[in-house]
Amino acid sequence: MGSRMNRMKTMDMMRQEPGADRRTGHLGPAGARGVLMRSARWRNVAPILVASVGLTAASAVAGPAAAEAAASEREQESAATAFTGARVIVGDGSDPIENATFVVEGDRFVAMGPSGEVEVPAGAERVDLTGRTVIPALIDTHVHLSRTRAELIEDLQRRAYYGVAAAMSLGQDTGEEVYRVRAETIPGAARYRTAGRGITRPEPGRSDIPFWISTEDEARAAVRELAALEVDIVKIWVDDRNGRYEKLTPVLYTAIIDEAHRRGLRVTAHIFSLEDAKGLLRAGVDAFAHGVRDRDVDDEFVELVQARPHVVLVPNLPGRGVAEDLGWLSGTIPAGELAEIQARFADRPEAQAGFAIQARNLARLNAEGMRIAFGTDGNAGWSPHVEMADMVASGMTPHEVLVAATSTSAAFLRLEDAGTVAAGQSADFVVLAANPLDDITNTRRIEAVFLRGTAVDRAALSERWVGDGNR
Ligand SMILES: [Zn+2]
Repeated sequence: MGSRMNRMKTMDMMRQEPGADRRTGHLGPAGARGVLMRSARWRNVAPILVASVGLTAASAVAGPAAAEAAASEREQESAATAFTGARVIVGDGSDPIENATFVVEGDRFVAMGPSGEVEVPAGAERVDLTGRTVIPALIDTHVHLSRTRAELIEDLQRRAYYGVAAAMSLGQDTGEEVYRVRAETIPGAARYRTAGRGITRPEPGRSDIPFWISTEDEARAAVRELAALEVDIVKIWVDDRNGRYEKLTPVLYTAIIDEAHRRGLRVTAHIFSLEDAKGLLRAGVDAFAHGVRDRDVDDEFVELVQARPHVVLVPNLPGRGVAEDLGWLSGTIPAGELAEIQARFADRPEAQAGFAIQARNLARLNAEGMRIAFGTDGNAGWSPHVEMADMVASGMTPHEVLVAATSTSAAFLRLEDAGTVAAGQSADFVVLAANPLDDITNTRRIEAVFLRGTAVDRAALSERWVGDGNR
């Protein structure tokens, strides 16, 4: 039981079968469309946000009365809305602005700064966010989502619900639908990026989606195929799975990295051991999709990292193995399923030991200046809020963790208009009831999520997931 629990957040089975941990039953396209049509423009939602402390912002807009109000409001619609009074955590590591005003026009922030310095356009609607904290929407660079359109869109809506603006799937994608969804902008859903099929040695009995390669020629051919699909990154696994399989050799992963770089692609590696991590750095790997898990990193590793300041670490921590109350998830996933998840968040000493290695490594590499991004693995939309707390438990500050989960991850995904609350950027932000710099778990106290200037209709999504028929 212990080892199964140990992998809860990075569960191998979840990698093999994206969707295996799905929170709800099948959702037909009609259901998805219904929610999209009901989602309201933020300018109709925002005044209600202010008037109804303690309610989710969108909870009041689902009914017909709200729709009427929205329609009448649209007639006198101004071009811009100014959100005033919030503490804004910009996302780039700069000091929070305690009393900020930001102006949203269309899908963009057009102004942001201390309230005394931001000129609000004449006729702009004003939304008072006094007492709230605003953070950029999160970016999750390591997920495994569904592969069919309707299910994938629901996965992306689930991420939006929990404040995620973009997610990148790492290596278990096949078929054409994932690429079509990637190319779309879907209202109320996170943006999607994908590595397509990852590359590994033959691993019979595990997922057969990745390329199974054993020669340099096969390695290069796999990369060429991925390049033709214009994947966002190349994912490789360098892991013998506790001695059960051959793993990619330095010759093979060097060929993959070389071929990828020739074609303008970067490579991110799933690793387990420190020795493989060093070999990959020497071979030019661009990112790690997990931390080193077998032992503490040493000075040699730190020197290799410091000589390659562009290399990104996505810590993707394992479960901490300490009991935790997941009551904050009630009302967002069905009660029965929440009970199952809650049962896994128990005290598990062997998991604590595994976590401790990775926590020490993260703390050291962060202190040594390694570029830290953010990823959760698997397909649990709420997991970013657990991962952020785990990163803080490792020794990063809440502010460092928020930067990792926003601007650093946006840069890693090359989403130049995401990851900060700043003029010119996509208006992707989360309104929180309390300050996550005081307590990182305050990221769970979400009052509203805005993607591309539009409020995510969280009430409708919640109703779909835990309403009648799903309880
Ligand atoms: Zn993964």
